[in-house]
Amino acid sequence: MTQAQANLDINTPENAPEEWSAQQSSKLYGVRDWGADYFDISAEGNAVVSLQFGEKTVHVPLIDIVNGMKERGLDMPAVLRIENLLDLRITQLNEAFARAIETAGYKNHYRGVFPIKVNQQCHVIEEIADYGRRYHHGLEAGSKAELIIAISQLRDHDSLIICNGYKDEEFIDLGLYARQMGIPCFFVLETATELFTILERSKALGIDPLIGVRIRLASTVEGHWNGDSGDRSIFGLSTNALLEVVEQLKKADMLHCLQLLHSHLGSQIPNIRNIRSGVMEACRFYTGLIEEGAPMGYMDLGGGLAVDYEGAHSNSTHSMNYGLDEYCYNIIEALQECLDPLDIAHPVLITESGRALIAYSSMLLFNVLEVRDHKPGAIPDQAPEDSHDMLFNLYAVLGNVTVQNLQECYNDAIYYRDELRELFHHGQATLRERALAENVSLAILEKISELLPQARRVSAELESLPELLSDIYYGNFSLFQSLPDIWAIDQIFPIMPIHRLNEKPTRSAVIADMTCDCDGKIDSFSYEDGICKTLPLHPLKEGEEYYLSVFLVGAYQETLGDLHNLFGDTNVVSVHISEDGSFNFVREFHGDSIADVLSYVEYDPKVMQEQFRKLAEQAVRDGKISVPMRQQMLRAFSDSMNGYTFFER
Ligand SMILES: *Cc1c(COP(=O)(O)O)cnc(C)c1O
Repeated sequence: MTQAQANLDINTPENAPEEWSAQQSSKLYGVRDWGADYFDISAEGNAVVSLQFGEKTVHVPLIDIVNGMKERGLDMPAVLRIENLLDLRITQLNEAFARAIETAGYKNHYRGVFPIKVNQQCHVIEEIADYGRRYHHGLEAGSKAELIIAISQLRDHDSLIICNGYKDEEFIDLGLYARQMGIPCFFVLETATELFTILERSKALGIDPLIGVRIRLASTVEGHWNGDSGDRSIFGLSTNALLEVVEQLKKADMLHCLQLLHSHLGSQIPNIRNIRSGVMEACRFYTGLIEEGAPMGYMDLGGGLAVDYEGAHSNSTHSMNYGLDEYCYNIIEALQECLDPLDIAHPVLITESGRALIAYSSMLLFNVLEVRDHKPGAIPDQAPEDSHDMLFNLYAVLGNVTVQNLQECYNDAIYYRDELRELFHHGQATLRERALAENVSLAILEKISELLPQARRVSAELESLPELLSDIYYGNFSLFQSLPDIWAIDQIFPIMPIHRLNEKPTRSAVIADMTCDCDGKIDSFSYEDGICKTLPLHPLKEGEEYYLSVFLVGAYQETLGDLHNLFGDTNVVSVHISEDGSFNFVREFHGDSIADVLSYVEYDPKVMQEQFRKLAEQAVRDGKISVPMRQQMLRAFSDSMNGYTFFER
């Protein structure tokens, strides 16, 4: 700021940049609501990761990590993983169950298993196996590939492997071998027919299987994944099929293998009451199987522990109306309530939390490339003399907007603007007249929008005006690659800038990605007042990057993402934060190059390079380019091939 401006500001306070504090940003973006104490905003206006080391809390600004990444040649967009947060979530889940078990006097222990499908990345599974070891945290596999991961990653023979999904002979043999080597590997039956193969293979190999049954609960849940439960769920055995399984096992003299009951009500269950009633119903099946003579001993309640993406602490789809401790207590209490009156021994309790374990540890970072605002261009004070009548009318409206006549002015602005568009269409208005009409009508809408907060009653039409006039921020990322759930199921993730949070965000924006797809945008955000269609952001500064982060993206997003427009995997960085607040780039993975993504869709980059060479060589022979030019072009082609698929500065 120049001296003159500073003085001016002091003399005329109404022109001063509005005071704004990091605290106000914190409230606006709701960090403390969705951040679960792991994220915050520093007084300097930076988004930070907050970690507790004993009595001490360290705060690490994300912008420092981004700068560190830049120095290491890792460009935006990038997935940032904070190893500590994964470690912490594993610890918190296991400790919370341990506390509930201790407090309630439950007479068995808890064993978590991580469902590999939620994030299969090798280094993530390695970290889970590593950090989870002290709690014997195991893995859940839903396919042969995932079983192979589980067997090769788990080193601890007190950790469980739970096999869900359809299983063929090969799958079953692998699981039986694991069992023979001392790994408690359960086959959970999804259908009664699967049992024949299991019994047959177990007889052939002489290895007794550990068998579980997945039941279809009648209890249903709220939220997006309610199809996993209820009568029409595609998963699990009906009561009838369950009894058929029991009969088959008895006939084969293998009922002693039936030890686990499995129920999974669905992912992201927002309402604790649904969880509790699901556990109660599962318990009834459990006791029923004991009455049938099965030994049992393990109760697997599946996933479903939610993440409060909205930060609303409510039972809406992207939120949850309970905390981790409450979740654990409710489950333990429900189990005791059902089993104790029947004097049934408490089973080992298993849950398969995926989302809740991993969501927090990853975020997607990207820079903003450009902003398209919806501001009117400069307009003359009045319509030029020989203008069309409609332009004079628009100017009249512009001079006439007051809080009392907002709707009327809106109607007129749209009417005259559309009339002029029509005239343009028929060759009766010029390009310049049309441009002026667009600008004046925009200026009217802008004025109306500014006065809206003062108006007493506002129509739906006017209510959507701020959204209509909002900016578009073009982000350097692909929604389809990095945030597929936003596209597929209208998932909400917390999004905010990672710096400049001590400046007032004066713009209101939707975020567009780099794909040429009208679905490639984010226009649903959760902050201060609930779900909104636009997000408050800062205007870009000349020559300075503006970074945003999408938080809580660790679950499901990476592998579900696709190659729309051939934007490939992003760079990934895994960071470990130390007690002194310093951080260490533990792992870095460079995202796909263009050659990589081309080969995924069966192109051969070498052949393409050769085709380009031939093209250039022909151009030399035809006298269109020189040989040095040819060399320059070949280098550019090969650099592109080896470069990042996203926008590079
Ligand atoms: C997907 C899935 C999970 C994980 O659910 P979250 O809500 O992510 O915890 C657990 N168990 C089964 C059987 C699943 O299909």
